Amino acid sequence: MKRNVKPVLVGDLTLNGEKIYIQSMLNVEAHKTEESVRQAKELEAAGCEIIRAAIPDMEAVKLVYALKEAVNIPVVADIHFDYRLAIACAEAGIDKIRINPGNIGGEEKVKAVVKACTARGIPIRIGVNGGSLEKELLAKYGSPTPEALVESAMRHVHILEACDFDDIVISIKSSNVPTMINAYRLLAQKCDYPLHLGVTEAGTERMGIIKSAVGIGSLLVDGIGETIRVSLTDEPVKEIRAAKDILMAVGKGSGVKIVSCPTCGRTKIDLISLAKRVENAVSGIDKNITVAVMGCVVNGIGEAGEADIGIAGGNGCAVLFKHGKQICKLSEDEALGRLIEEIEKL
Ligand code: SF4
Repeated sequence: MKRNVKPVLVGDLTLNGEKIYIQSMLNVEAHKTEESVRQAKELEAAGCEIIRAAIPDMEAVKLVYALKEAVNIPVVADIHFDYRLAIACAEAGIDKIRINPGNIGGEEKVKAVVKACTARGIPIRIGVNGGSLEKELLAKYGSPTPEALVESAMRHVHILEACDFDDIVISIKSSNVPTMINAYRLLAQKCDYPLHLGVTEAGTERMGIIKSAVGIGSLLVDGIGETIRVSLTDEPVKEIRAAKDILMAVGKGSGVKIVSCPTCGRTKIDLISLAKRVENAVSGIDKNITVAVMGCVVNGIGEAGEADIGIAGGNGCAVLFKHGKQICKLSEDEALGRLIEEIEKL
């Protein structure tokens, strides 16, 4: 069940739980404006819906202006410690600021950031990370436990609330998947602010995607999470593809869903290659349908009962079926082309 979420506006997107937005982060050095803009456009074209950039110093604020000019998706500034950078980014038209109010050097500085954000309707994301937990919380809990992460996040939240600011989004990341899942579950019970989900330092492509899928996916199934980021030690555009796949896997994505069988001794066609070719061919089709690619007619058509359309392997041929009913027999060579033709008609 979806939890109740306090709506927060990020640019023209409303984080209210109705749609889950995909986020990524630039990994180009912040002063390389041209390269950063190129990467931001590439991410936007790939389906990134919110883009975050590190703003390490005043020189880098130029990037905010350039990104706002170049892309049509909200831009988030990631700021560590220096409140003046947050104010400069607010003035530059940023859509959200990620900063932890407890780390910026006192009440006056927090008030200055809150004032700049309130004046422009800019939300603040509090980003707690298992690797950078406050020393006293580490001492109190012994390690970055879910409870420690939640206590840290709520401290930052209370600092903003004390300044009458509640345009808040929270992330509470850990590279330990069970810790991350339990921390978000606990946090979701404590407040109704939108939550940004991610497994931090998830790793390189293969394990990073698996860890993110388990962590983010479990929470999405629980109805927790308004924005997601798959963190990979790789090209950011791969994060977008993985995020889309995670959304699809938990039934919250859009596009063509493929179901295909693992093949067995009954398979008489080259199903592995066919399934991959079908996957590639449907990747650009914007229809919310399920397409099955099954190894045999006897079991495959029945097992793929939820599919809108599919093909099942016969003896040196393929059978096209719709909603469990056989339509016609095709040769292996014509199967893919005919399937795509039929999908286009749906
Ligand atoms: S659908 Fe047929 S070929 Fe595929 S795993 Fe099931 S029985 Fe085997």
